[in-house]
Parts: sequence; structure tokens; C-alpha cells
Amino acid sequence: MKAMVLGKIVCLSENKNPLELKDMPKPAPSEHELLLKVLTCGVCHTELDEIEGRTPPPRLPIILGHQVVGRVEQAGRKVSKFKLGDRVGLAWIYSACGKCKFCRSGRENLCPDFRATGRDVNGGYAEYMTVHEDFAYAIPDIFSDAEAAPLLCAGAIGYRSLKLTGLQDGQNLGLTGFGASGHLVLMMVRHKFPSTKVYVFARAPEERAFARELGAVWVGDSNEMSPEKLDCVIDTTPVWKPVVEALKNLDRGGRLVINAIRKEDIDKDYLLNLDYPAHLWMEKEVKSAANVARSDVSEFLRLAAEIPIKPEIEEYVLEEGNRALMEIKERKIRGAKVLRIAH
Ligand SMILES: [Zn+2]
Ligand SMILES: [Zn+2]
Repeated sequence: MKAMVLGKIVCLSENKNPLELKDMPKPAPSEHELLLKVLTCGVCHTELDEIEGRTPPPRLPIILGHQVVGRVEQAGRKVSKFKLGDRVGLAWIYSACGKCKFCRSGRENLCPDFRATGRDVNGGYAEYMTVHEDFAYAIPDIFSDAEAAPLLCAGAIGYRSLKLTGLQDGQNLGLTGFGASGHLVLMMVRHKFPSTKVYVFARAPEERAFARELGAVWVGDSNEMSPEKLDCVIDTTPVWKPVVEALKNLDRGGRLVINAIRKEDIDKDYLLNLDYPAHLWMEKEVKSAANVARSDVSEFLRLAAEIPIKPEIEEYVLEEGNRALMEIKERKIRGAKVLRIAH
């Protein structure tokens, strides 16, 4: 099978083609696994973190990609939840132990044995992949193969982040960064919290225009003061400045949720601007969102179908994986990028 493979950790400013098109053996499903013919796979900022070694794959080479939509082509002997031809999705959570205190209390996203799709095991930048049936999701018919892909990560982690803010209808929400996840959160908020005003902090003029189109009441740069104080903020940027600046806009008792697996170090010194009375005092909270649990994915898919949320998509073919990644790196983003692998 064809696959775009990461062979070594590289710096993307020096090597703009980190993935190599290779012929790999087609995987075989074990008794509880499905063999999927991959239809589409979303391209996520997390792939940059893997490629540049901020969250490195434990073994190389590896096939990246964790927002996978595929058709069941073969099923292991003991599979009972899906049948041949079903269209299923696969998210960042590839498996968790099921036994630890986190797994037993519905927090499998925190499991010490959490395995991530496309980092700890081969992912969806390929023609085929395998997955345990318990970690696959039926894709609602309302979504095309390409629309469904970004819902599985950007959407599900956005949903988790929004839950973690504890936002209530009518409270002000800030979004720092406005890529794949941010735009889906805004769509969700418009539906779930109709009286909430959303303020978007984004650098690129296109991102700001897009946020306005989707209903943000205010857009500005990350160092601007929002016209009203914010009760909650979700940060989806890869850097530190927006975090520090957002804390300044946060109201008393407000909460900032950081939705990023790793932050880049390029502007880490900006943290020295952190001023306790202005940024943290008055019971302001900072919380990170880590991974996703299966419930985030399935609850979000249900909500997205009901609203409905149709993400903005840019499609690429598998061989264009490097170009799609570099465009995320260079922040040429409108909506979500998806590799089209088969029809
Ligand atoms: Zn992702
Ligand atoms: Zn566990």
C-alpha cells in the first residue's frame, strides 16, 4: 500500500519534505480489529509536533495521521460492532489500558498507557490501517468523507476544551487562534450558547475575516484588549504570547483552557511578562486539555450532526501531505486540511 512515512525527526524550517511516499505492507487485522480502507485523513498541527520532535513517535519510521475516515474492508473473527462496508472514523485515542484509575473514572485521555493514532501506532496517511473495533466510531451519513475527518480531532478536542471551560450561556468566550479547532468551537458555541459573545484573537487577516463571517462579535490581534472582559478563553495557538495576553483579558474567576499538546519554544521568554496581579490574581485559572476520550468523539459527532456543523475543508491528495503540513506551519489556514486517499 502507498503511505506517506516519517523516517526521522526534522526541523521544518530546514526540511520542507519530512514525509516520504513509500510502499508499505498492508496491515492485517487481529481478532477484534477492523481493516480500514482509508478514504480521508485530516492534517493536524499535532503532526508538526511529531515531526519536529516535541511529541516524538517512540519508534520510526511511522505513518502519521489521526483524523481518519475509512471503510471496513475486513473484520477480525471476534468483531461484533461493525460489518464490512461500514464507514467509520478513528481519532487521536488509539487505545487506553481500561484498568487504571483514569480509565475507570471516564478519564481514559489521561491513561498512562494512552496510545495515540499516528504517533504510537501507524495512522491514516496511508491506503489502509487497522483499529480495535472499540476505538472506532460510526460516521453519521450527513457528513461527507472529507467533512467528517476534521471533526474527529479538531472538533472533538474543541468540544473537550469547551466542556473544560465550564462556559454558561451568556458568558463571554475568547478564542486565541482560529484554525481548524477554533472555527468548529465557534460554530458549536453559536448553537449551544446562543447568548454568549465570542471574541477572537488571531494574527492573520484571513482568519479574522473568517471569524467575523462565522459570528464573532469582535476580532483583534493577540496583544489587543477585548472590549469586554472574558469569562473563559480557549487557546489553540502553538506559542506563549497569546496565553499571557489572554490572561490579561480574563475576568475575575475566569478560566483559560490551553488546547495544545506541546508549545513551541520560540517565544517562551514572553512568559517573563507574566504579571501576577494583572494576569493571575483574582482566582483566575489555567487548565490544559489533554488528548480526547472516546466519549468526546462520539458526543461531538452526535452534536455536529444535529446542529449540523459542516467544517470548511481544503482537500489534498496523499502525495501532497508535505505541502499541506507546510501550509499549517506557515499558517496558511482557512478551515481544515484533509488528505483525500480514496473514494
Ligand atoms: Zn489532531
Ligand atoms: Zn488506563
